[in-house]
Amino acid sequence: TPRTKELTKGNIWLEFTQLAAENKVVNLGDGFPDFPPPSFVKEALCTAVSGGSGMHQYTRIPGHRPLVKILAKFFGRILGLEIDPMQDVLITVGASEALFCAVQALIAKGDEVIIMEPFNNCYKSMTVMAGGKPVYVPLKPPNVKGPLLSSADWVLCPEELARKFTSNTKAIIINNPNNPLGKVFHREELQMIADLCIKHDVLCISDESYEWLTYDGAQHIKIASFPGMWERTVTIGSGGKSFSATGWKLGWAIGAGHILKHLQNIHQNSIYHCPTPTQEALAVCFQREYNMFGTEESYFRQLPKQLQTKRQRLANCMSSVGLQPIMPEGGYFMMMDISNMKVDLYDPDTKDELHDCRFVKWLIKEKGLGTIPVSEFFSLEQRAHFQNYISVCFVKDDSTLDAVEDILKQWS
Ligand code: PMP
Repeated sequence: TPRTKELTKGNIWLEFTQLAAENKVVNLGDGFPDFPPPSFVKEALCTAVSGGSGMHQYTRIPGHRPLVKILAKFFGRILGLEIDPMQDVLITVGASEALFCAVQALIAKGDEVIIMEPFNNCYKSMTVMAGGKPVYVPLKPPNVKGPLLSSADWVLCPEELARKFTSNTKAIIINNPNNPLGKVFHREELQMIADLCIKHDVLCISDESYEWLTYDGAQHIKIASFPGMWERTVTIGSGGKSFSATGWKLGWAIGAGHILKHLQNIHQNSIYHCPTPTQEALAVCFQREYNMFGTEESYFRQLPKQLQTKRQRLANCMSSVGLQPIMPEGGYFMMMDISNMKVDLYDPDTKDELHDCRFVKWLIKEKGLGTIPVSEFFSLEQRAHFQNYISVCFVKDDSTLDAVEDILKQWS
């Protein structure tokens, strides 16, 4: 069945991180920081773990009370809305489970789900697992290639997007900032999506895992803040991405209670609830950020500043060998155009694979550098047109970036 086919096809992260590990490379393919989270984050977890015996037992099923309360307060302030911590918030095993609950709860057999390309692979597999049908719409690169490429140049065609909405459309999934492109959607783009959702009575699942991570002044705007959208949007976030602690695997879904109750239902009948100490610690971290919001001490302000420097450094050294960065306005990743790379990918074992997969394997074996091929982030129909991009994660320690620089110096 399409479901089992989707699930047995393998996973690009599994395949390429394993290959990178076997070859002991400098790995820019792993999508997580290789530096520790800030000390207040580690301390919050230590304090939670060494707290009273309650910290080691079950807690409230849809979310530990202190955590749902602070998230409701935090996001209520951003959205200018009263968010009910008990009805409108669900705490999940990472943003991943929030996405899973949303799709599983809201999509029925035959429902169409609009997904933008390039996409985070799980949107497609979760839709198929729920019996839904993914309908793809591309973010299109510019026709003319200038010397400075940016994720902002990849845009939706309004007419094409409008054509994808049919009487079977149940939801659209947006990822803002987008992985792997790094696009941060502008107000006009979000308005266009919101107008279509309202016109066709469609739900919006907005994956905002990288919401704090925007660069060069790009502003992250929540689609749930548009008139008429709170009632139809599930906003998803990631504690791991927010505090550079991806191993905590805590996330959330926030939205109107009449929608959220269906997600809570899936969660309580599968996961039951997330670990108590990490929820307690995340609540403490969010309280800190609530108090410091908008100040220089805020981690949500410091982290993007740090990452912008790392992004620039990696872009500069990658360009030195002819890899052409598409500067991301947000997120953990930077895509690179490899069409100018004139290398002999002689390996006969990979000759039937797409160019980016071959190039990534060649980089691992010949240069000791781990990256991720981008064609996998497109639908099967589009894949062949997007063989000329690879992706790297720049959320790496300076020592890792030094090692990358050494590799690239020897190469150029
Ligand atoms: N959404 C996007 C766009 C992601 O890139 C990721 C992780 N790579 C996730 C969701 C999952 O996040 P989490 O680790 O919080 O489950």
